[in-house]
Amino acid sequence: MLDSFFQVPKMANRTTDYGIIVHGGAGSFVPGVGSEIAKRKSVLAKSAEAGYRILKKRGGSSLDAVEEAIRVLEDSEVFNAGSGSSLSLEGTVTADASIMAGNLSCGAIGNVSVSKNPISLARKVMERSDHILLVGDKDLIKFSKAIGYPVEPLSPSALRVLQYRRNLSTMEKGKVRAWPKNYKLLREYLEGSSPRPPEQADTVGAVAIDSTFNLCAGVSTGGRWLKLPGRVGDSALIGAGIYADNLSGAASATGAGEEIIRVSLCKSVCDFMRFGVDAQSACDAAIKILTDRRGVGTAGVVAIDKYGRFGASRNTEMLQRAFRFNSMSKSHVAVLPADKDPSREPPYLGDPRLKF
Ligand code: ASP
Repeated sequence: MLDSFFQVPKMANRTTDYGIIVHGGAGSFVPGVGSEIAKRKSVLAKSAEAGYRILKKRGGSSLDAVEEAIRVLEDSEVFNAGSGSSLSLEGTVTADASIMAGNLSCGAIGNVSVSKNPISLARKVMERSDHILLVGDKDLIKFSKAIGYPVEPLSPSALRVLQYRRNLSTMEKGKVRAWPKNYKLLREYLEGSSPRPPEQADTVGAVAIDSTFNLCAGVSTGGRWLKLPGRVGDSALIGAGIYADNLSGAASATGAGEEIIRVSLCKSVCDFMRFGVDAQSACDAAIKILTDRRGVGTAGVVAIDKYGRFGASRNTEMLQRAFRFNSMSKSHVAVLPADKDPSREPPYLGDPRLKF
């Protein structure tokens, strides 16, 4: 009985051929102006389309699609990744990113500010080293030089510097909503002021399945606003911020990294999928576990299972996301709390299409 769960599906069992889901972070909904929402939607659609164009090509791989889709988001300055990265307590930018293919190849970087596209550097760790996770600028510069990869300092955008100043001044008003255990430490960093890290989090990520059944997941972030220097979050950790396995599916998470790590969120989604749960139900189940254990407002996750069924779930007010599958004529983008996902009847386990 269990054997059927450990097989890559045959072509006849597939419910969709190929597709990609990208996300631009989960968190509290900050209304903002209409033009800003429109910009977010258009960048998410552009990212999904960029990934989809690769999947559509003959031989287009989910690995290339995920990397390219995330690069579009990193370059946009709109989300908390790449050139739009949030700032640490000391006003510095350091990124975490990881990528994983369904054959279990994976690479990650943590606490790094020497690449404009952290997702591509993570892929280099996967392809050019025997390791999975490299951390810190000093060693990543050495690695980049050794493989001939450009060292490009990641500097904060003008908008992020402005937001950093605003966030620091909010701290000085003395209200603490998050990170109560860091409170005393943060006060020392800021000489007596009281931190209140903002809750909006716009990390970017993607999951994709290509026409040869290969899955891939990726994620990239500047981390959480006003994080302690040296902090590495879920986005650098395989199993927490991402996971992919051709025998189950691919998942990419966003939200409070410290909470996502505690429940190995993406591995948990993939474990559900491995035992036949469809992607949407797997996302719902893993988010429910997180909510039950750590409360609401902690995370969102997107996933595709090995049959190409897709899902997205959150316990936050919003999860910014876009879907592009070959069953759709164009990208479907959801940003506002009330925005719905494309509906798709997931095959149930007894469905003849799955031929178990
Ligand atoms: N998960 C990211 C982190 O904790 C933040 C986010 O998703 O926005 O670093």
